[in-house]
Amino acid sequence: NGASQDAAIQDTTQSAASSSLATPPVGNPEYFATRQALPLWARQDDIRSILRQKDVLVLVGETGSGKSTQVPQFLYREKWCQRRRVKVETDSGMQEIGVGGMIAITQPRRVAATTLAHRVSREAGTPLTGQTGGGGGGGGGGPAAKGLVGYSVRFDHRVPPGTRIKYLTEGMLLQELLRDPHLKQYSAIVVDEIHERSVDVDLLSGFLKQILLGDRAGRGGIPLKVVIMSATANVEKIRGFFSHTSPRSSVEYMQIEGRQFPVDIVHTPKPVPDIQETLIKTIFKLHTEEALSDKHGRKDILAFLTGQEEIETAQRLIEEYASTLGPKLPKVRVFPLFGQLSMEAQHEAFQPIKGGSTRKIVLSTNIAETSVTVPGVRYVIDCGKAKVKQFRPRLGMESLLAKPVSKSSAIQRAGRAGREGPGKCFRLYTEETYETLQKTDLPEMLRTDILSAILTMKARGIDDVLSFPLMDPPELESVEKALLHLHILGALADDGTITDIGRKMVQFPVTPPYARVLVAAADPRYDCLLEAIDIISCITAGEDIFLQLRTEEAREEVEEYRKELSRREGDLLTYLTTMQLYAAENADRIRWCKDRKINIRNMKQAISIRKQLRGLCVRQGMMEQPAADPQPFRPASPELAGVILRCFLKGFALKTAILVPDGSYVTSHGKHVVAIHPASVLHGQKKEAIMFLEYVYTQKNYAKKVSAIQAVWIAEALQE
Ligand code: ADP
Repeated sequence: NGASQDAAIQDTTQSAASSSLATPPVGNPEYFATRQALPLWARQDDIRSILRQKDVLVLVGETGSGKSTQVPQFLYREKWCQRRRVKVETDSGMQEIGVGGMIAITQPRRVAATTLAHRVSREAGTPLTGQTGGGGGGGGGGPAAKGLVGYSVRFDHRVPPGTRIKYLTEGMLLQELLRDPHLKQYSAIVVDEIHERSVDVDLLSGFLKQILLGDRAGRGGIPLKVVIMSATANVEKIRGFFSHTSPRSSVEYMQIEGRQFPVDIVHTPKPVPDIQETLIKTIFKLHTEEALSDKHGRKDILAFLTGQEEIETAQRLIEEYASTLGPKLPKVRVFPLFGQLSMEAQHEAFQPIKGGSTRKIVLSTNIAETSVTVPGVRYVIDCGKAKVKQFRPRLGMESLLAKPVSKSSAIQRAGRAGREGPGKCFRLYTEETYETLQKTDLPEMLRTDILSAILTMKARGIDDVLSFPLMDPPELESVEKALLHLHILGALADDGTITDIGRKMVQFPVTPPYARVLVAAADPRYDCLLEAIDIISCITAGEDIFLQLRTEEAREEVEEYRKELSRREGDLLTYLTTMQLYAAENADRIRWCKDRKINIRNMKQAISIRKQLRGLCVRQGMMEQPAADPQPFRPASPELAGVILRCFLKGFALKTAILVPDGSYVTSHGKHVVAIHPASVLHGQKKEAIMFLEYVYTQKNYAKKVSAIQAVWIAEALQE
């Protein structure tokens, strides 16, 4: 029935007849020219006509080509996108309900969702009012109603009445799916930035595939249109995943050529020993030698750094150095941009700078790589690293250590310099290093720990994880093992559904065993959350905080100092004492670490993780804001030590071993013989039972991070 749909389009679209190429925009005339100049604009009619016939479109286009802002504006006036009333069967008989009318556009990050909503409401000339509401808002039809655009991100919803275009994070749409598995409010779902392949976007794709396969239209609803958008062209797998979902949904593919000016790429000739220093030098060389603007416009600087701490340090150094420059040079203004920054502060980076004599320097994490457009940028500086969520099996910590970016990311980053005129990209690494980079990043699903991935799926309402459609499904056997392990941890009930404990565990960026410890620690029966956080922070802060002592001499040197840290209960309590003494140290922390041969970098990491975990627990109402350091040191009593260890057993009951008569330790799970690693404070000691958080195989099976426990505690931890 393509013809009747086409005919119907004529009356909902203003002056469709007047243009053979693309319908002129409705909305704020101030933006017409800019919008019509976007590479996507010329394809408007193609996009609309494809979606009249097909249910799925995969759209590839460079960042800045207009995908996120224009696609929903092209679609909302289409006939198929209007709200309809349909009869559905409910528990109380047949009922008429309104369905469809809205378009959801998902984003991996909050800042992209909110800035896009602001931008598009300005383009459309409709207010983005502060009406805070739930998922609803409903259609209402008719062009450019009172509020056309809304957004919904964690802790912040603006969905004015009449909202038709709603920007939201992937996580928020997954939440809505829990309430309404058919997404009845929506006529179209636009999945943006799919190339990032977050776990959430993979799950979302699975749900959308199920809806497409499930024939929503056949059950009194309306068909769902799905637009998948990517800034990188590597989408074969995604196209394959969505093909054959319904007779109408053989996947259409469209690639938009971006507007790209040439970008000169400069690598360093030698590896740089100090990224921070090279960064500052590069910035000020550019600032002092290059004009503030040319005929193409402003010439601002965008630097990609790894994370909040690096960005804040760089900002301080840049501002300090800038204040020493003479009055003849233009001023600089630094804008940090990272996920933990407040929304207001993030938005500042996108504002045009006031006054013609200031250079804007944006210091960003990979947020600015594809998901947002920072106007004015002609120089990019790329440190070559990013913090990605990556499972580190040995540590059981999922996140936040910087690692080299992929070639694909490096290319995206460089591309940001050539949006508005010819640009330059300075890579703070050598060309040889570039050649060694991986082609693309692995999908997060394949990088995360399987336990976490399965728990997330359960929390997202996926009951049958084995048959859920995924682009990169994990192996059956490892899924089954993970389900069993999660059940033992108390995260899943006997029937496989997620428990309250499981729901609490999902909130933590640590693997499920550690998350289980944190949940137990907050339980009044254990009540040792601060202590558990201190220990987990030390364990997950990279390599061991204690430097290895290779010579007898080295051992003698630190013996006295380390004695003060060691606890006979084992390594976990030793970590606790170390963290507490370090936090109590007010004078010279560097000296303190040197004397004890403690890795100061890892200790700083530990403090940063501790801050993150404490913040999270406070926000979730699990504890009061703890007092700031330095706090006087009070050693944990033997009773408290026992409580802490029993609490850790809630997460690690399977990682235990019992002393057998021949003097060796045999694991309670698997019955292997393990020896206590020489680096442990319990090395060479005989305890009735031990708990170990890691093991390594070298010539021997070694247990690491070992604590002395009572055998009866193991069974106790597995109960309830
Ligand atoms: P894509 O999704 O293809 O990356 P967008 O639709 O996000 O492209 O952006 C298209 C253009 O709109 C950008 O090149 C930029 O000029 C402009 N734009 C988008 N968002 C903003 C914003 N928040 N502020 C200023 N300009 C913006």
